[in-house]
Amino acid sequence: MASLPAVSAKSSKLAATGVWLFSRPGFESEAGREWLDQARTLGIQGSVELLADTGLVCWEASARVPVETRAEQYLPIDSLVFVRDVVFELGRVEPLPKQDRVGALITALDARIPERKWGEVAVHVPEGSPDADLTAFARKWTAPLAAALRRHGRLKEKRDRGARRLDLILPDFERLIVGETLPGQRAAFPGGRPRLRLPGSAPSRSTLKLEEAFLTLLNDKERGRWLTPGMTAVDLGASPGGWTFHLVGRGMLVTAVDNGPMNAALMNSGQVDHVRSDGFVWVPERPCDWMVCDIVDKPRRTVDMVGRWFQHGYCRASVFNLKLPMKKRLEEWRLCRQRLEEALAGAAGSFDIRAKQLYHDREEITVMVLPRGAG
Ligand code: SAM
Repeated sequence: MASLPAVSAKSSKLAATGVWLFSRPGFESEAGREWLDQARTLGIQGSVELLADTGLVCWEASARVPVETRAEQYLPIDSLVFVRDVVFELGRVEPLPKQDRVGALITALDARIPERKWGEVAVHVPEGSPDADLTAFARKWTAPLAAALRRHGRLKEKRDRGARRLDLILPDFERLIVGETLPGQRAAFPGGRPRLRLPGSAPSRSTLKLEEAFLTLLNDKERGRWLTPGMTAVDLGASPGGWTFHLVGRGMLVTAVDNGPMNAALMNSGQVDHVRSDGFVWVPERPCDWMVCDIVDKPRRTVDMVGRWFQHGYCRASVFNLKLPMKKRLEEWRLCRQRLEEALAGAAGSFDIRAKQLYHDREEITVMVLPRGAG
């Protein structure tokens, strides 16, 4: 793992300027640039330090700004694609003792941030960390840590998602970065890493990707309205059926378009119609609620196809993957987004474009198009 930025004097003060960005390991540069650009458009200068292959980026504002102000200003987290989650640094415990790490944290909190009570606590190990012991330690540490913080009056008795969350980043056994996230301004899952269970009968792991997309890109109300039994969906590039499996599980009737075979058990559900055809050419006879597409192809070709579906009113909403090239991934996404916006301008109604590099995504990002105000 790359070394962390040197600890400066500011690390011992409360309103630190550091903001920790979480990304997929290998996409730190895209996440950092995306954040820098956004901050710049808001007139806030800063610089980033990329921790190669850790999935962590540290951003430092040039000027000290209170946490709340920064959060309000910078954090339309939903508008960030490569940044999965954002933690505001409050300080560091360094060196972290080998014994009584909890005690060291509480002492630091009492000294630097007296009287704050958090709604919950999350411990993060960099996704790219090769240290399996660290990951195992963090997993075991969280429950006793939460209990001790609660005893010490630093954590609410009951988990409160509507309050600030204490976020602790453990880059290694020697250092603890203490930060927090604010309600409404953070990822749906700590660090943008949901723990989803793969159903035993799922035809492929990809099923988790669509599940995560719905959990991340829709809010509760939208899920209630947009994912209801009896809805119709078209799955382009459906074989062997992971995405179709998820849609079927939500009670939808699915047309699966792929020249490849579909999982036999899934076909027995009676909710799937398999069409062997080219997903870039095939169009439905009747409009459907959802069009989802997991075909690996040139991203521009995919967005152009999606744009046509909306222009012709073939679907009401869509989820699709864009496999980004190795170089210029941020630029390619921006270009694709622009093309999609132009195409959607020629469709009836107005639409939101939401995109994220999900935890279950690899070199790709997941995009959703949803009618605006349709929650
Ligand atoms: N979403 C699927 C799942 O969850 O099991 C996995 C899809 S896999 C990544 C991509 C699929 O796209 C392959 O099954 C491939 O046959 C299909 N494909 C590639 N080009 C296609 C095209 N032009 N039309 C339809 N399917 C296509």
